[in-house]
Amino acid sequence: MSATTEPTTLADTALPGYIVDHRVVSDVVAERRGPWSGIVHAGQFLTIVDLYGNQAVDCIVYDAADTDIRYSAPDTIAAQGNIYLTEGSVLRANTGDALMTLRHDQVGRHDTIGGACSKESNSLRYGHHTVHQHACVENFLAEGARWGLGKRDLVSNINWYMNVPVEPDGVLGIVDGISAPGLSLTLQADRDVLVLVSNCPQINNPCNGFDPTAVRMIISEGPRPIA
Ligand SMILES: [Zn+2]
Repeated sequence: MSATTEPTTLADTALPGYIVDHRVVSDVVAERRGPWSGIVHAGQFLTIVDLYGNQAVDCIVYDAADTDIRYSAPDTIAAQGNIYLTEGSVLRANTGDALMTLRHDQVGRHDTIGGACSKESNSLRYGHHTVHQHACVENFLAEGARWGLGKRDLVSNINWYMNVPVEPDGVLGIVDGISAPGLSLTLQADRDVLVLVSNCPQINNPCNGFDPTAVRMIISEGPRPIA
């Protein structure tokens, strides 16, 4: 599937078992290397399915009514006392308010300190020949423009499914993922939010297994909490 830019068609349209009783509001594929965005209303769920495994999904969340209120990695980390995101993690804004809560997680650990790839970081890390490669920042800017967002609105992001271990001496790694094909996670909106996603096009490190792939984005309504 990676050699084509044809729209991805889902071979299996069944919902993940734990949201099978939900009413689907939106169910689309975020293409490999491409962006996605959407409004998730308070109480609604956003499920991200790592269709082929080992795909980093860069993500920033904004208050839909006031995008100056946006995801804050340091506030989220400080409030939960842990550098990884996992089931139960509350995504907090720069105001400290809850934006979304990770209700269900089949992977166990997600990164929020590794940042998003850009042509600047790529050329610094991997050499000047990578400066023209499409990167997450371009996805964020192109998709964010649809909502009136610009470069100054791009803050430290979440990397769903990305494995960025912090070694005992504090060194960061970007290593092979711990996700697998078909694994999913589900967030619930604590207020109306705008979710901005870059389905990471990085090919210079193992965050996408050197082969970026499509993911599935499902917005749904259902009983709370998830059974
Ligand atoms: Zn990226």
